Amino acid sequence: EVPRGSGGGRRRLGVMGGTFDPVHHGHLVAASEVAALFHLDEVVFVPTGQPWQKTHKAVSPAEDRYLMTVIATASNPQFSVSRIDIDRPGPTYTIDTLRDLHALNEDADLFFITGADALSQILGWRDATELFSLAHFIGVTRPGHDLTDDGLPEGKVSLVEVPALAISSTDCRARVAKDDPVWYLVPDGVVRYIDKRQLYRGT
Ligand code: ATP
Ligand code: MG
Repeated sequence: EVPRGSGGGRRRLGVMGGTFDPVHHGHLVAASEVAALFHLDEVVFVPTGQPWQKTHKAVSPAEDRYLMTVIATASNPQFSVSRIDIDRPGPTYTIDTLRDLHALNEDADLFFITGADALSQILGWRDATELFSLAHFIGVTRPGHDLTDDGLPEGKVSLVEVPALAISSTDCRARVAKDDPVWYLVPDGVVRYIDKRQLYRGT
């Protein structure tokens, strides 16, 4: 059931795309669980530049989202963070993320990790068909969302159950705005960074 490497020595690279505004333990648990289940060598977190679905909302500066993601992942030797989306001008499309990562990692098979909510939207993403030729997609359970591969191409998507964490960045931002704690929802260093930069105060 779980696709394995050919044994031909190809690297197995997980890709965790997101706005990460802020990164939270739901993202980290999903990446960690998929890395173990799919025998990934590495998971690269890719903070979006200007997310095309979220242009109507104010998104924190890319540099803040990038740094929070670095802080959150720094202690895990299997996790890294890429600047490719934040350094590419214009709105971020996952097709560009995967094309760039594919070109930069010719020795690797890509595994794109996505929560149930995002998975159900994929067919509406730019160049949806090509997406599935660049990466294997792994949909993970997320509280409040149904995980289904209905309508998605056969053999290109795996569905996995991960420990349920009812955490969203939207809720974290709302909590900070209300002065409610986000301790234990996001890594300690991210709590401190939000405070230091006074993020989400006025939202
Ligand atoms: P927002 O509320 O701002 O949309 P978010 O919590 O959904 O933030 P994103 O950066 O939008 O976080 O999500 C990045 C990826 O992580 C998406 O594929 C999303 O489905 C997944 N994800 C986010 N939170 C969880 C969670 N608690 N459990 C599993 N997957 C999650
Ligand atoms: Mg989201």
